[in-house]
Amino acid sequence: MQQQRMGIWGALVVLQLALAGFGEARAQDKGTLDPQPLPPLAKPDDPALAAKQLFGRKAGPAPLQARAIGFYAKGCLAGATALPINGKTWQVMRLSRNRNWGHPNLIRFLERLADKGPTVGWPGLLVGDISQARGGPMLTGHASHQVGLDADIWLTPMPDRELTREEREEMSATNVVAGDKKDVDPAVWTPAHVAIIRAAATEPEVERIFVNAAIKKALCRDAGRDRAWLHKVRPMWGHNYHFHIRMRCPADNPDCKPQEPPTNGEGCGHDLDWWFRDAVLNPKPPATPSKPKPSLKMADLPPACRQVLVAP
Ligand SMILES: [Zn+2]
Repeated sequence: MQQQRMGIWGALVVLQLALAGFGEARAQDKGTLDPQPLPPLAKPDDPALAAKQLFGRKAGPAPLQARAIGFYAKGCLAGATALPINGKTWQVMRLSRNRNWGHPNLIRFLERLADKGPTVGWPGLLVGDISQARGGPMLTGHASHQVGLDADIWLTPMPDRELTREEREEMSATNVVAGDKKDVDPAVWTPAHVAIIRAAATEPEVERIFVNAAIKKALCRDAGRDRAWLHKVRPMWGHNYHFHIRMRCPADNPDCKPQEPPTNGEGCGHDLDWWFRDAVLNPKPPATPSKPKPSLKMADLPPACRQVLVAP
């Protein structure tokens, strides 16, 4: 009996391995859509090396207890989990970036928010960047998204079919801001946009949400009487194609450095004036180009990030 059971399990394992192998082969056939390992570094211990070069090369999570370590823009992530690339109510975009990793609190929250979507008129989430497998600074884009508590959600509702890998690489998100940047574009902005951002903001675990100032203005106008959530939604440059969700530090992650809580006011009306000044909307390029910020080194990150990096 035992022998027979082993036989069945053995067969299942072989079948699974075969299927996994098939998946890999298929992915390779399609060229560059899956994460390509970067060449190894000549001097990985060089203290002058940018931390993004090290974290950007880690394809899998650190098999440690889940912990957000450091600050949203200066930290790393242990024990990350991946948001599955397909759910009934979500699809992960830009798969080649391998940035669908997050703290389990964030991943569970995204699944809940996705499921809530259809009940408020948003059919499902197209999920942009979350974090790298071990968090940390990234080789391209984003100053934050380092501790697994930030996620970008496209302002495009999920289509009612599974997108191909190519579509997830090449499709563009929807810019909901009008050409003059002073308001949303009424041709694409819908009550469902308000509803899905509101659904995210009303979650107690959500610390704040970043959107373009024109979107904040529209939310202030469209919120009606139910306005208690508006103070969490803060204006930010860009964020006209996606909104950015930031979770609070988990209570049991003492190394996670929280952000100052947002002010209590709604942040509507004259609070937004600064964002719509011409000099802010259409800034002139500086006379002398500003020096790029130096990249974070390992020494700039919390010491525990070294363990995250070297974990097998
Ligand atoms: Zn973001």
